[in-house]
Amino acid sequence: MRFLIDNTLIWDGESRLIESGAILIEDGEVKELLTDEERRKYALPTDTERIDGEGKLAIPGLINAHTHLYSSLARGMALPGFSPKTFTGILEQLWWRLDKALDPESVRVSALIGAMEAARCGVTTLIDHHASPHAVPGSLDLVKTAVCDDVGLRGAFCYELSDRDGVEVRDQGIEENLEFIAAQDPDDPMSAALFGLHASFTLSDETLKLVADRIPDGVGVHIHVAEGPEDEIQCVERHGMRIIERLNHYGLLRETSILAHCLHLDEHEKNLVAQFKAIVVHNPRSNMNNAVGAFDMAGFLGRDVLVGLGTDGLGANMLTELFTASILQKHERRDPLAGGFPDLNKILFIDNPAIAFRLFGIEFGRIAPGAPADIAVFDYRPPTPIDAGNVLGHLLFGIAVHDLHVSDLFVAGRPVIRDGAFINVDADEAYAHARTVARELWGRIE
Ligand SMILES: [Zn+2]
Repeated sequence: MRFLIDNTLIWDGESRLIESGAILIEDGEVKELLTDEERRKYALPTDTERIDGEGKLAIPGLINAHTHLYSSLARGMALPGFSPKTFTGILEQLWWRLDKALDPESVRVSALIGAMEAARCGVTTLIDHHASPHAVPGSLDLVKTAVCDDVGLRGAFCYELSDRDGVEVRDQGIEENLEFIAAQDPDDPMSAALFGLHASFTLSDETLKLVADRIPDGVGVHIHVAEGPEDEIQCVERHGMRIIERLNHYGLLRETSILAHCLHLDEHEKNLVAQFKAIVVHNPRSNMNNAVGAFDMAGFLGRDVLVGLGTDGLGANMLTELFTASILQKHERRDPLAGGFPDLNKILFIDNPAIAFRLFGIEFGRIAPGAPADIAVFDYRPPTPIDAGNVLGHLLFGIAVHDLHVSDLFVAGRPVIRDGAFINVDADEAYAHARTVARELWGRIE
């Protein structure tokens, strides 16, 4: 099946803004990227489905480099007595109560709803970090099936290993990661695997040694690093070294390792991250919501570290996340030039695709002949001039600030959303079922 997104504004993700352009999709890839003039001369193949792109803006599909789909059903959940004083308190009083109540069906439904909401925000690839300590075996397959098969997005998956639920659950977590990694088909363009770790402060030396002994070469870990200040304090007290040194000690600072947050690293640790070319992912809205501090964007970018962006499960909207990343830097540094467009452009449209490339081996992030056909088409009619130099201004102050969604979404050349409707999922039915499952989930929380 071929598709032509026709007569639309196109930003190619690199340098070109085409007005009234056209994108021909064939065999999972962008076959042609045409200007209006080229389109008029082009002999369109038969059996091509035409999508009218008038009043729309097509951009490369977005990547969420750190999220937790399991949190999707927490929205509106009442937690009597909730009064955390620290970041660990938030984990203990909220997230570790929720994840213990997850059963296979709520794992599946959380992933389904989270992936659907991501799709509506133009996200085509999710890098997920999953926890369900009372339903570990097989949980990654449930998440993968919901994301990749039911909704149709790409995903990189891992299970959040920790010692917080005892040896049996820990061992299940190790096996779940290893089995999922081993089952990956290297030719499957929809799915990738990492080895998930919760955080240094919930991982004993014995557990990290087991991980170090058994993690396959080339596979990275996906871990929270220094999200709250207590993670570093505990690491120094208990292990006599800082977190990045500890990960390095176990050989886990890899080019495919994703270090989420990294808010409280010292200069030596930042240098080590740069030296080992590990990946750092910033999650500004989650950091602000948890009151844990502001990310050193300039410090990491200045060291040439790959800096990605994720939502950490707090919503799915990557453009709003990027907007927040910008205003957080300005606010924190008292500098109206901090978090400027060059840095933002690099994070979302260069580094996030580069992260996904390390995991999938596919060059995302651009609309060009031969590129994967992962394309988000937003309902967006610019009220001011738009060109390659100011497109980020339109994405942030137009689409993000006004919370606009896609009309159409393609992943690997296949339609996921057409004219605002999901192709594979009945959204009304999925949301109604999710409300039932969420009520039952909330009822199990202790
Ligand atoms: Zn997280």
